[in-house]
Amino acid sequence: MKSFERGRAWIELDMAALKVNTAAMSSILPPGCRLMPAVKADAYGHGAALIAPELQRLGVDAFCVASAEEGAELRGIGVTGEILVLGWTHPENFRLLKEYSLTQTAVDCAYARLLDGYGGELTAHLAIDTGMHRLGEPCMNTAEILSAFSLPHLRITGVFTHLCADDTLSAADAAYTERQASAFRWLLSELHRHGVFPKAHILGSYGLINYPQYGGDYARVGLALFGVLSRREDVPLCPVRLRPVLSLRSRVTSVRTVAAGECVGYGLAYTAGSERRIASVGIGYADGVPRSLSCGAGSVLIAGRRAPIVGRVCMDQLMADVTDIPGVQPGDIVTLIGRDGGEEISAYDLAEADGTITNEILSRLGRRPARIRV
Ligand SMILES: *Cc1c(COP(=O)(O)O)cnc(C)c1O
Repeated sequence: MKSFERGRAWIELDMAALKVNTAAMSSILPPGCRLMPAVKADAYGHGAALIAPELQRLGVDAFCVASAEEGAELRGIGVTGEILVLGWTHPENFRLLKEYSLTQTAVDCAYARLLDGYGGELTAHLAIDTGMHRLGEPCMNTAEILSAFSLPHLRITGVFTHLCADDTLSAADAAYTERQASAFRWLLSELHRHGVFPKAHILGSYGLINYPQYGGDYARVGLALFGVLSRREDVPLCPVRLRPVLSLRSRVTSVRTVAAGECVGYGLAYTAGSERRIASVGIGYADGVPRSLSCGAGSVLIAGRRAPIVGRVCMDQLMADVTDIPGVQPGDIVTLIGRDGGEEISAYDLAEADGTITNEILSRLGRRPARIRV
């Protein structure tokens, strides 16, 4: 249903920032390497329907997603080029791979044989486990890996591995990452020695930032394109400047004066120590505002000023103390993530308050807020 988009709660997408981030990450690509943006989980909560076509306009022609359904959705909105499904697809859904021309990850060689058994000339990239131990055929199984390339009905056009400790340059992480990369290099040389020359990829956002020397034909960059890293402390180590794409906004729905000694919200979790002005806001944890921001752990911006969240964040609403912000009215814009005047609340602020990484904060944003280009 179409409605006024800046109604109760919405997400603004700064497409100029997306362009800046795409250019910045492209500028550090190793020679011969192209971006294959990860737009899984609805483009990390930003809304794949707006993000993927914009990336396509910026010249991107390969994407990765988590599921066949996500890949089919991209096709439905006119995304062309290669779409790699990074996760497992149930054999009952193999027809989606064919129907929407998706490249499926062969999560190991046994699964490659399942894909082959479909008989429908599917295309795959074979995942190689070099040390993350999540998906992928163990790197040492070269005979098995080579034989997957001879399956009669499966076209394996690429091999890739995933780094699991590339987000720091600490000695331990760098050593583990080097072990993963050299295992992958070794496998590639074995394949080449047998006349098999698939595309190869290894880098995600942190890999490209910290370990670009590992190269590859594609970099599967997700998070960084949205202008944030997982943790604030990683930002100074990043060689390029990124700009957050997303702002999360809502509106004041009701304002009241609460007398000293009165409580606000569920569980009597907040008691006014003095007379306070309390604004209710039309957004809650079902929209992705972490409940851990309750009781002053988080704040919101109204009229360019900071207002602490009081009481517990509800499913669809929250309350903020606006005593120090004069003239707050129903309908006023409230910023949960983003800038308002000279103030800013970042995805890092929410992640830190919630004891998590920005990836989780962003990808868990709800479906209710409309996504709007700005
Ligand atoms: C999600 C994912 C990526 C993208 O990771 P970012 O850190 O967001 O760049 C790359 N590769 C695989 C296998 C993934 O699952």
